[in-house]
Amino acid sequence: MQCPECGSTNISKNGKQKGKQNHICKECRRQFFGRYSAPAGYSDEFKRECLTMYVNGSGFRAIERVKGVHHTTVITWVKQVGKRLPDAYAPETVPEVGELDELETFVGSKKTKSGYGRRLTTSSKES
Ligand SMILES: [Zn+2]
Repeated sequence: MQCPECGSTNISKNGKQKGKQNHICKECRRQFFGRYSAPAGYSDEFKRECLTMYVNGSGFRAIERVKGVHHTTVITWVKQVGKRLPDAYAPETVPEVGELDELETFVGSKKTKSGYGRRLTTSSKES
């Protein structure tokens, strides 16, 4: 049994309604009926985005505002990731803009090389 909201298995029974077994998630307090075989949770991509925000210093409430996901759900994900990865979660950030800057400085340094001739004349004057 998994919570359809946060994927937690920390579920307890919450009485019956209309003959159906009601369950409640202890992590995010989401109530749902049993036989939830396929949890319609969030995608790994979405989870990673929220966790990256958390690692980058965003508070749980800030993530809730931006991503529209309940903050207790994010807390549960952080706990789950923490269990799986004892060493802190390391987000893979690829600075594409930084690569572009590097390319520009490379092209720029090529241009300044053409000014060598002028430097030679000034140094010959000094000696
Ligand atoms: Zn839950």
